[in-house]
Amino acid sequence: MQFQPLLEEIVATLRAELGREGQVASYIPALAQVPAAQIGIALRTCDGEEAHAGDSTTLFSIQSISKLFTLALGMRELGETLWDRLGREPSGNAFNSLVQLESEQGLPRNPFINAGAIAVTDRLVSRFDARNELLALLSSLCDEPVHFDQEVAASEAATGFRNVALANFMKSFGRIDNDVGAVLDVYFHACAIRMSCLQLARAAGFLCRDGAHPFTNQQILTEKQARRINALMLTCGTYDAAGEFAFRIGLPCKSGVGGGIVAVVPDRLTLCVWSPALAPSGNSLLGMKALELFTAKTGLSIFLLAKVRIPASAARRVQSFHADASNLTPSATITQPAARSSPVFARR
Ligand code: GLN
Repeated sequence: MQFQPLLEEIVATLRAELGREGQVASYIPALAQVPAAQIGIALRTCDGEEAHAGDSTTLFSIQSISKLFTLALGMRELGETLWDRLGREPSGNAFNSLVQLESEQGLPRNPFINAGAIAVTDRLVSRFDARNELLALLSSLCDEPVHFDQEVAASEAATGFRNVALANFMKSFGRIDNDVGAVLDVYFHACAIRMSCLQLARAAGFLCRDGAHPFTNQQILTEKQARRINALMLTCGTYDAAGEFAFRIGLPCKSGVGGGIVAVVPDRLTLCVWSPALAPSGNSLLGMKALELFTAKTGLSIFLLAKVRIPASAARRVQSFHADASNLTPSATITQPAARSSPVFARR
């Protein structure tokens, strides 16, 4: 599959719509000043093939996309015990809502709403210098140094009254161990990380590679953990619009109010789109359209992948997984493999 011309075509198609609709996040000056008329898109396949177009190397504030990597660190460090203080259900509420937290005794619905990410951050703060660990992980995953935007971090802290409320609320239920200020310092810095589409497409690569590092091949997470992050992205990764994303795009995605969206095509590729103007849901308006065009033109949606025949090696892996699980039987559809012609579909 020729990804480079496809990404260029998507950017060219959407350029005509730049600046027409949507609003750039305005809750802090550093985000309000970002020019709306920008769009970038980048992807990296499991084999390391890359393509990118438009403003794909411009650094932007990754905001809630950081919750993906906070969660990955939490899973790596805490394993199953991470879920003692965290749910796995879509919230159906705004990402910074307090309402549900009260009725559910301070237990956040999932790791991708603010309360959930703050709860994971608290567990990380108990273990190490979480700010540095997060930057080190991201820098390693995209093979380039990654930095905080200190101006954004300071603004997040100066205006993050709801996040302070969420953290204190959880603390009142005994669900935050550390000093609230110390936990939020890490959370606000995580929101203030600056990366480009290309860097994020690389950094998320472990999610399409069964948990393996995109450059070194080392296991960052187990295959099962990576699959579970994808499941959470699909159900909870795009605020209160996860249903709409599944309906229109059909890929696990994680968005941020900086206008970025990371998407995963399991076992194939990761991609990142960025355009700062947001829909009312808080997701990038043209980012959603770009992903919709991408899945429509490639057929790479998780609801279509079942129709794509898989190579023998992958079929054997899935078969052995099913054989391992006592409650599952091998599926007829995956025991009829046929090699794919495109190298894009050959894994690693
Ligand atoms: N910094 C924002 C917050 O904590 C992040 C929001 C987002 O991207 N959803 O509310």
